[in-house]
Amino acid sequence: MRVVVVGAGLSGLAAACHLRGAGHDVVVLEREDQVGGRAGTFTEQGFRFDTGPVVMTMPDLLAEPLRAVGADPAAAVPLRRVDPSYRAHYADGTTLDVHAEMDALRKEVERTFSAADAQGLDRLLAWLERLHETEFDAFLDTNYDSPFDLARSPRRGLELLRLGGFRSLDRVVSQHLSDERLRRVFSFQALYAGVSPQQARAVLAVISYMDVVRGVFYPEGGMHAVPRALADALVAAGGTVRTGVPVAEVLRRADGSAAGVLLESGDVELADAVVCTADLPVAYDRLLPGLRRPRSLRRAAYSPSAVVWHVGVRGGVAPGTAHHNIHFGHQWPEAFEALVGRGALMPDPSRLVTVPSVSDPTVAPEGDSVFYVLEPVPHLGGDVDWATEREPMRERLLGFLADSDYPTDVVVERLVDPVDWRDQGMALGTPFALAHTFLQSGPFRPRNVDRRVPGLVFAGSGTTPGVGVPMVLLSGKHAAQRVEAHLRGRG
Ligand SMILES: Cc1cc2nc3c(=O)[nH]c(=O)nc-3n(C[C@H](O)[C@H](O)[C@H](O)COP(=O)(O)OP(=O)(O)OC[C@H]3O[C@@H](n4cnc5c(N)ncnc54)[C@H](O)[C@@H]3O)c2cc1C
Repeated sequence: MRVVVVGAGLSGLAAACHLRGAGHDVVVLEREDQVGGRAGTFTEQGFRFDTGPVVMTMPDLLAEPLRAVGADPAAAVPLRRVDPSYRAHYADGTTLDVHAEMDALRKEVERTFSAADAQGLDRLLAWLERLHETEFDAFLDTNYDSPFDLARSPRRGLELLRLGGFRSLDRVVSQHLSDERLRRVFSFQALYAGVSPQQARAVLAVISYMDVVRGVFYPEGGMHAVPRALADALVAAGGTVRTGVPVAEVLRRADGSAAGVLLESGDVELADAVVCTADLPVAYDRLLPGLRRPRSLRRAAYSPSAVVWHVGVRGGVAPGTAHHNIHFGHQWPEAFEALVGRGALMPDPSRLVTVPSVSDPTVAPEGDSVFYVLEPVPHLGGDVDWATEREPMRERLLGFLADSDYPTDVVVERLVDPVDWRDQGMALGTPFALAHTFLQSGPFRPRNVDRRVPGLVFAGSGTTPGVGVPMVLLSGKHAAQRVEAHLRGRG
């Protein structure tokens, strides 16, 4: 059977690999002239930048689509563990290395904070293991048909309840750790999911499990090597990837079922099923004319957005500089209240500074450095006017780099703000899709199928299970399972 996949981001490529592995004729159509979507890349004057994800976790989930097309994951994407996974820099001058190895992390916590917190860490880690074990297969790695599906795993649901999975993330972490600074290491990840640690349910701690416990990896060649490897493996197995091919519409037969796609060029690609990975609200608005957004998408709450400043600078960093650095501001609940509650800039922002050149000298000319500075900012529903805020933001980020003792002799730079994300086709100018509030998570998140269009399946961060590299790789696998079920049904 012939399947068209719209979009060569990680979800689309994962779906395509699984479908090709199942023997289908698979064609991936990508609007841009490179694969990867949000996991893109650009090079300027010898500096190479990853444009989106930089924290790679859960490599087993990447191995699945690669194996599906007969590729050897270790050869296709050689991965190196990053240690420390992060360095936390606190406003009072304290630093904490979040080591990949738990004994080393325990010692570091005892040295930086207290023996009591080191013991609390042990309890928290044991709890995270149980949470992940309970949650992963039953709630994340699954295709939902309705909220009643929760009843499919009543034992797991009860276990999740018993573990306190539906309590506030902040409360559960505080129960184990007394130092407020240490708690941040296990709760800042809520922001990846678009909610504050106070608002987040403890089930979202599975994200801190993925990075703190399972570790952070650096793919040889940078994050963009991941989609590149998926695309190469797909093509080697007989699939097709076409770039520079924008899709204008998903075509439907008289009975409503998906018939293929119409390209902006006017050409038609017929198919037995279509997987669509464009940002979900945008897919409904632009690619499915006459089809109203489902209720779950009409009044959706979106995650905050981010400004990303890519900078290539002359000179190296201080010896021992970590690959990933989180610089926490003084304020914590207040910062989230501004960002998530009021749609305003954080008055005292926390920022991520990733310095890939410390692990990979090929990303910069010899002796020079690459910086990726990310500041969470409100999405375009907030009260920031980016026409006037863009330049002051750049100045503040430059001042922050200088104050944090990073070199600042800028050679090349590119700043990406929420208007740029919107122009790349992301609803409300956020690359992080719908927030993972309770009512937009699990079976309550917009579904990956729409019964009005049989044979059309969605994948990507706007649908289940959600945002982030591990989740969208899963969503690609789930989309492939849906396509298989549809094709089987058609006999
Ligand atoms: C700045 C930033 C930092 C991030 N950091 C991390 C991180 O550290 N760790 C992590 O796990 N996750 C991170 N994420 C999240 C993660 O990158 C995304 O969730 C994931 O890459 C999204 O993949 P996707 O396949 O859903 O969407 P996309 O990557 O957006 O893929 C969709 C593709 O569809 C194409 N497309 C859209 N419309 C059409 C059309 N009409 N015709 C043809 N093609 C079309 C697009 O061009 C795109 O290539 C980050 C994201 C960003 C942007």
